[in-house]
Amino acid sequence: SPVPDYLADVLDAVRSIDDGAPADYIEVLANADTSRLAVALATVDGEVYAAGDSDVAFSIQSISKPFAYAAAIEDVGLDAVLARIGVEPSGDAFNELSLEDGTHRPMNPMINAGALATHALVAGPEASGPQRVERLRALMSAMAGRELGYDEAVYEAELRDAHRNRGLAHMLRAGGIIDAEPETIVDGYVRQCAVDVTVRDLALMAATLANAGVQPLTGRQVIDRAGVRQVLSVMTTCGMYDAAGDWVSNVGIPAKSGVAGGIIGALPGQLGLAVFSPKLDAHGNSARGVAVCERLSRDMGLHMMDVS
Ligand code: GLN
Repeated sequence: SPVPDYLADVLDAVRSIDDGAPADYIEVLANADTSRLAVALATVDGEVYAAGDSDVAFSIQSISKPFAYAAAIEDVGLDAVLARIGVEPSGDAFNELSLEDGTHRPMNPMINAGALATHALVAGPEASGPQRVERLRALMSAMAGRELGYDEAVYEAELRDAHRNRGLAHMLRAGGIIDAEPETIVDGYVRQCAVDVTVRDLALMAATLANAGVQPLTGRQVIDRAGVRQVLSVMTTCGMYDAAGDWVSNVGIPAKSGVAGGIIGALPGQLGLAVFSPKLDAHGNSARGVAVCERLSRDMGLHMMDVS
């Protein structure tokens, strides 16, 4: 197949981009090897292609948010999720307390406030902290097609320093958006963000979304099809934080980025893609990762608004 060579060429074309900086709020991320660069593609019929550092693992971080949202929708139903978390882009940074006037709902599940509220719904109202955490690890593993573990150093560092997320969780508790103990929710959310993945894992997870919840290699329906449409819709409008509009017009693929430098894209009915490079742009998205996705979209005609 010519695809791996093509992907390697795309990586070479963006390697000289040196903009941005790795996340620096914890030392493990600040010390990341910034030369790392990887891409993977997984089609809905199970072809997987990769180039670069595609076996290097990194913490999933905010890329876990769409998967947690899918789990919450399946576990408590879409209406119960919408009662607590909105679907409007906030236009603010990911760690802002962006709440709707009146309802106190976080604006959407892709910002931290909304992701904390989403985490609290996973596995249903009776669930314990460990049950929520394991529900998410098991779901993400089923989507990746292998058992995923944790980056313990990221988990520990992040938990020690989670003052802002603790603040958000307490505000959500005060507003009646979460019922559980804020500290338990923050701990579980930090665990969720510390799941260790490669671009190959992420491409398959994205391809599972693109394939209406059916994992392309195992053929298993791992998440309810009805929820997947909701997840992809919110990724389209909110997945790239305050750069979402720019992303949708340039790249045109439902996507989600994470602070460790990963980005996923899921093109319904076609493929999942994932990129990784640690230096982030001003919006918190991987600078080289965005450039790779722009190229792939252009070269392969992936923009969802293109009329063929
Ligand atoms: N764990 C990070 C946080 O909550 C995730 C943020 C991100 O990836 N943008 O701050």
